[in-house]
Amino acid sequence: MLHFLRRALIIFSVLALFILPSAGALTAADNGQGKDPPDLERIVFVHPKVKDVKPSPAKPPKEPVLYSYSRYHWSNLPVTYYYNPSSSPVSNAQDGVIASFEAWEAAGSGVDFTFGGTTDVLPGLDVSVPDYKNVVGWAPLNDPGSVAITIIWSNTRTKLVVDTDTIFNLDSGYAWVQGTISVGADPDLAQLTNTSAYDVDVQNIMTHEAGHWLVLNDLYTDAASEQTMYGYASDSELKKRSLETGDIAGVNKIYP
Ligand SMILES: [Zn+2]
Repeated sequence: MLHFLRRALIIFSVLALFILPSAGALTAADNGQGKDPPDLERIVFVHPKVKDVKPSPAKPPKEPVLYSYSRYHWSNLPVTYYYNPSSSPVSNAQDGVIASFEAWEAAGSGVDFTFGGTTDVLPGLDVSVPDYKNVVGWAPLNDPGSVAITIIWSNTRTKLVVDTDTIFNLDSGYAWVQGTISVGADPDLAQLTNTSAYDVDVQNIMTHEAGHWLVLNDLYTDAASEQTMYGYASDSELKKRSLETGDIAGVNKIYP
């Protein structure tokens, strides 16, 4: 019996010499040192130009819900973002983009964005992997009814965001501008000059999209129609430039 055990121990020791080093190498690859990508998921927020689909809950809540938090968030602040002016129909669109992020920073929260300047990198539209560069830019979108979309890449397990991009729709149906309103005027009471096109303000849309960067969800109830995170846009609107009570409560909840 003792002899058998000794032989078994010798055989196991010899086998271990071959097996254990390769087992160690496999573990290193699984930890991201090798070719396996981390577990990532892609979330897309679409901002439609018209209020054509209205989800109606069977039982509306007693208290209006004025923000909705996705549970996804950034771990490392500041979040550096870039602007790609390629194909932009608006010469001063960058001003609107910067002002949009500043609106959220000014909401008294712990959120912090840094403008990294302009870039040639395109915002990731039809890509299967994140490029880890947060870009705002322009492209024709497949759906002409979408004013803009924001794409968020995050880790499925930790819910930490790793990459975010926003694309403004270059579809010919949109007349993009960076509107000017008089100093001190309330954006909630102002509108763009209305033309026959669908008039759309860069800063108005980007302030909403920057809310998705945080990562706040869209709101679709009538009670939330004045919030910046209201999920529908309207022709010539400017009111999303300024944050409302729900938006401010939301950002302070995520980044106190
Ligand atoms: Zn949205």
